[in-house]
Amino acid sequence: MNIVVLDGHTLNPGDLSWAELEKLGTCRVFDRTAPEEVLERAKDADILITNKVVIGAMEIEQLRNLKYIGLSSTGYNVVDIEAAAKRFIPVLNVPAYSTLSVAQLTFAHILNLCHHVAEHSNSVKNGNWSKSPDFCYWNFPLVELEGLTLGIIGFGRIGRSVAAIAEQFGMEILIYDIAPSLEISTNLQKVTLETLFQKSDIITLHCPLTSETEHIVDKNYLSMMKVSAFLINTSRGALVHEQDLADALNFGKIAAAGLDVLSTEPPSPDNLLLSAKNCYISPHIAWATTASRQRLMDVVVNNVRAFLDGKPINVVNDLK
Ligand code: NAD
Repeated sequence: MNIVVLDGHTLNPGDLSWAELEKLGTCRVFDRTAPEEVLERAKDADILITNKVVIGAMEIEQLRNLKYIGLSSTGYNVVDIEAAAKRFIPVLNVPAYSTLSVAQLTFAHILNLCHHVAEHSNSVKNGNWSKSPDFCYWNFPLVELEGLTLGIIGFGRIGRSVAAIAEQFGMEILIYDIAPSLEISTNLQKVTLETLFQKSDIITLHCPLTSETEHIVDKNYLSMMKVSAFLINTSRGALVHEQDLADALNFGKIAAAGLDVLSTEPPSPDNLLLSAKNCYISPHIAWATTASRQRLMDVVVNNVRAFLDGKPINVVNDLK
C-alpha cells in the first residue's frame, strides 16, 4: 500500500514518530503541499492523509488509485466526502483528541488576563522591581476568579471540561447551547444568549462554526457585555466579528480578549485584532500539546490499520 501524508508538519514537526504508519505501507510524508502539487504527489497513493490540504471532487476523480482518505483532524470540510462516497472511498477523521488541551488553553488565556504573568516577568527583567520603592508592584488590575460568572457558549465536550475547571475556581456558570435536551448539573444555569452576554464576567466560545454561529459575537452582543468583561475564543475565528471586537477593545467597551483563533490563519499583518488594545492572541495552539498530537497520531495510524483489517472506524461519509 502506498501511503501519502500531504501536510504532516503541524501534527509532527519532528518530536513524534511516523514509524507506526510506516509499518503499514510504503510511506511518503510531506511537511506541506500546495494545491497544484496534490495530483503529482498523490498519483500513486492508495491511502491519502490530509490535514488542511483540500481534496475536492477533481482530485478524487483523477487519483484513480485512491482507496482511502484519512484526516489528521476532527473537521473534514477540506474533503468532498460525497465525491469520495461516489467512488466508494471512505473518509476517516479523528473525533476528539484535544478536549482537555483546549480547555487548558482556555484557562491559560483566562489566567493570563487575571495575572499577566509573562508581562510582569518582562517588567521585572526590565529592572522595574529592582527600582520599586515597595516589596511588590503590579501593572494591571489583578483578578480573582472565585465568585465571578463564566458564560459558556456551546456546552459540548470542551465546554463541559471548561465548566469542570471553572467550578474548581469557585465560579458561577451560565450556559447557552442550542441542543434541545441538554443535560446540565443543578449548579449550572441555562440562559438565553442575551442574559449570558449581560451577566458574565468572562465569556468563552465553544460552539462549532456554522452559518448560525458565524459572527455570533458582534457589536450588538458586545454592547451588552460588562465593561470589565473578558472574551475568550479558542473555537473558530469567524465566530467573532473582528472589526466589532477591535472597536469594543479600543474604545474600552470590554476589558480584554484572549484568542487562539482568527478568521484567517495565518492572519494578514493588518488584521485589526493584532493591534487592538488588551487583545492577547496565541497562534491556534490549543490542540497542539505533545500529548494531544500523540493521541492524534495514534488514531490516524489506528484508522489506517482498521481499514486494512477490513473493519474501518471513524468513517464520516455514507458509502451506501
Ligand atoms: P462538541 O460538538 O462536543 O460541542 C459543541 C457544542 O456546541 C454542542 O453542545 C452543540 O450543541 C453546541 N452548539 C452548536 N451550535 C450552537 C449554537 N448555534 N449556539 C450554541 N451552541 C451551539 O464540540 P467540541 O469538541 O466541544 O469542540 C467545540 C469547538 O472547538 C469545535 O467546533 C472547534 O471549532 C473548536 N476546537 C478548537 C481547537 C483549537 O485548537 N483551537 C481544537 C479543537 C476544537
